[in-house]
Amino acid sequence: MDRRSRSPFVAGNWKMNLVLREAAVLSRRVAEAGPWLAECTVVLIPSYTALGAVAGSIAGSSVALGGQDLYWEKQGAFTGEISGPMLKDAGCAYVLVGHSERRQLFGETDETVNRKTRAALEAGLSPIVCVGEVLAERDAGRTLERIDAQLAQGLNGFSGEDMARIVIAYEPVWAIGTGRTATPAQAEEIHAHIRRRIEESYGNETGACAIILYGGSVKPANSYPLFKEKDIDGFLVGGASLDAVGFVDIVREALRAYREEK
Ligand code: PEP
Repeated sequence: MDRRSRSPFVAGNWKMNLVLREAAVLSRRVAEAGPWLAECTVVLIPSYTALGAVAGSIAGSSVALGGQDLYWEKQGAFTGEISGPMLKDAGCAYVLVGHSERRQLFGETDETVNRKTRAALEAGLSPIVCVGEVLAERDAGRTLERIDAQLAQGLNGFSGEDMARIVIAYEPVWAIGTGRTATPAQAEEIHAHIRRRIEESYGNETGACAIILYGGSVKPANSYPLFKEKDIDGFLVGGASLDAVGFVDIVREALRAYREEK
């Protein structure tokens, strides 16, 4: 499978934003962008309270739903947590695992990422597993080492079949919510490295099929040049996903690059 057989994949992480009415309006606007949207995988990732409202707004469209996190147990006395089966029941097909805000603010480790990824797969969800270095690691020349450790520990014990359902999001922490984006060349270097690592562990076919997203201050103006890079298959978008027009423009720009090189 060559690079251009992987069609664009764009996910919008709304984080802790939007009340029900706002979430319903934004998701409806995205879903109604046009039938061309179905050429891409588009995932909306609202807060837990808005999952039902968004599921209703996108029903019948090609847009998919995702959760922002999950706990690894299926049910029980875990106040405040939400499980994979609950997300599945709410209509989710995807779930974020190990977002840098979870790692930095809520103590997530590569070990919890591993358990959550396993739980997501068991619930029939596709995990979007986030990896990325902090600025000090980049400045010290330790980016690849950090990514390797996150992949090795976070994905330890998974089969090739599991890997085929896992999406990787490379998000340099210094680029998230800062307005500072990795250059296409900087991002491509890491994406190509991640794909190589997947090939080494799971074989060429699995590596070639793997969806590897870039995240970090993606906006309409930088999505086209980023998507032109051969190992960048789409985006995990934070801030810019809160605006329907801008978010749809990001998808449109990725699709433009995809169509040119298909
Ligand atoms: C994110 O939250 O995953 C993200 C990349 O945020 P932003 O696009 O705002 O940098």
